[in-house]
Amino acid sequence: MKKILRIDLSKRRYGYEDVSTAYATLGGRGLTSKIVSEEVPAKADPLGKDNKVVFAPGILAATAAPNNGRLSVGAKSPLTHTIKEANAGGAAAQKLARLGIKAVVVENIASELTMIKVSKEEVSFLPAEGLKGKGNYAVISTLKAEYGEGVAIISIGPAGERLLSAASVSVTSPDFAVRMAARGGLGAVMGSKNLKALVIDDAGAGEVEVNDKEKLQEAAAALSKGILSHPLIEGLRQVGTPLLVMMMNAVGGLPTKNYSLGQFEGAEKISGEFMVETMAKRPNSKAVHRCMKGCIVSCSNVYTDDQGNEIVSGLEYETVGLVGSNCLISDLDDVARINRLCNDLGLDTMDVGAAVAVAMEAGLLPWGDGKAAYALIEEVGRGTEKGKMIGSGCLVTGQKLGVKRIPQVKGQSLAGYDPRVLKGTGVTYATSPMGADHTCGNAIPSPANPDYNPAASTGQARVSGFLQCYHAAIDSLGMCLFPSLPLLDIPELQKLLIACASAVTGEPFDENYLMNLGISVLNTEKSLIRLQDLPQRMTAYRSSS
Ligand code: SF4
Repeated sequence: MKKILRIDLSKRRYGYEDVSTAYATLGGRGLTSKIVSEEVPAKADPLGKDNKVVFAPGILAATAAPNNGRLSVGAKSPLTHTIKEANAGGAAAQKLARLGIKAVVVENIASELTMIKVSKEEVSFLPAEGLKGKGNYAVISTLKAEYGEGVAIISIGPAGERLLSAASVSVTSPDFAVRMAARGGLGAVMGSKNLKALVIDDAGAGEVEVNDKEKLQEAAAALSKGILSHPLIEGLRQVGTPLLVMMMNAVGGLPTKNYSLGQFEGAEKISGEFMVETMAKRPNSKAVHRCMKGCIVSCSNVYTDDQGNEIVSGLEYETVGLVGSNCLISDLDDVARINRLCNDLGLDTMDVGAAVAVAMEAGLLPWGDGKAAYALIEEVGRGTEKGKMIGSGCLVTGQKLGVKRIPQVKGQSLAGYDPRVLKGTGVTYATSPMGADHTCGNAIPSPANPDYNPAASTGQARVSGFLQCYHAAIDSLGMCLFPSLPLLDIPELQKLLIACASAVTGEPFDENYLMNLGISVLNTEKSLIRLQDLPQRMTAYRSSS
């Protein structure tokens, strides 16, 4: 029977609670948002004792369903001041699920910097003063040496300790690469609680409870096969998410020069295709890499230097867009090194890339100067005034430097998709409680849906509303966004995903399950969109244009 693990940092106590009926069929984002909405006062200081940080594996975590291991992290955001959920791949969600933990709710504030170790036997509160000020890579290396290769580590870097609102939460992959629950400043919420890290050790834990294993195996196998048949997936396997650089550049939607342009002269030099060519020449680089067990897509990569030393894993489109083209930086090695620096400091590369571009617009550093951008971000670790400004994201940076064009919504920077070209994504940015977050409903063109015009000036609210619901459901299942995209084009696959959820939970979900789940999550998050106007069928996206 799954339990909620509640941890009180000030009293150094923990307890396991039965899962209420209201929570029984929730997971991932649906559960983190529900707990935050019910337990955190609306006017709570996001960095005060009344805020809580919640970690939840998805409904399908650690089962045979494909790409099931996203970990949702939820809290009231110091950046958007709304309920925020950011999720990451890695190993933590599957380990929590195997330990029978449906959510970890962390409340109050520890009197000293603390680390929590969760295992089958107990939950331990451990001093973390020795990790104070350490970057995520040092934290991971220290804790891996101490607890072995079977654990997963959730941690924050110096940015989170300094309570900076672009601070992210790091989650280790099975090979101890850094994955990020990047958005919303949730690393600062961990920092405000004096919580440096959680170590999740599932040694001795059994398999997760599945109501009908045979039905799950059957549905999961057919679902995986269907996902792999979609042309987008082959592109992601070959090139990874940087595949999007040239696509976005072609439609004029690549953030360029602080979002003043949609196309970048140097796009080819930071493109996914160029990245793959570069990696092919470099020792130890891997163009194909997976961030979690059970991933059938492997869109991640390992990017090394000429000598074969790892710079970062993985280098993704959002970072290339916001740190690269948006700052006119066309040297991929510079972008990769800034990515590593942000990972180490525990920073969202999107908000920080947007902040650097705003600083470039203000004349604080030259356009396109990757080394100067690196030096500026380094200041976050030293706690200088400029470092605090950049680590607080693009809105604070723009306000401090008197820049008029600050590409943000609800305090959070736009992601790597220009809403003037992708108008449905613009509606998502404007109306989602998550701020300008592309993962909540990104309306990009699809060859399988040629009738949809992303630049049309009408009909976008309906498309955005549908996608916001769909992705809220996917985030609640704990499924990675990328393999979920083919389901938008192949309705038969939606039925197979619903069959997986039914097989795991034993609930007889009908064909409206995903949409109803998404609507309930958005209702919980008090979305501003008019939910009653949304289409009730998953196929509505295909006919909306
Ligand atoms: S598709 Fe990419 S992001 Fe998703 S689980 Fe696989 S490697 Fe991770």
